[in-house]
Amino acid sequence: MPELKCPVCYGTVKVPEDALDGELFEHEECGAQLELVTSNGSKVLKLAEEVGEDWGE
Ligand SMILES: [Zn+2]
Repeated sequence: MPELKCPVCYGTVKVPEDALDGELFEHEECGAQLELVTSNGSKVLKLAEEVGEDWGE
């Protein structure tokens, strides 16, 4: 199971092997909502945007 880095607390987040782009995960350690994205062929986690709020990019 791949372990990715949480962009909020820099802790480790376990992500299923078959997780898809755009899938959301909650990091239990800090409670952050994280979105899986693929960057340059590798999976990374970014902070998911709050629903209903548009922060731009
Ligand atoms: Zn975290």
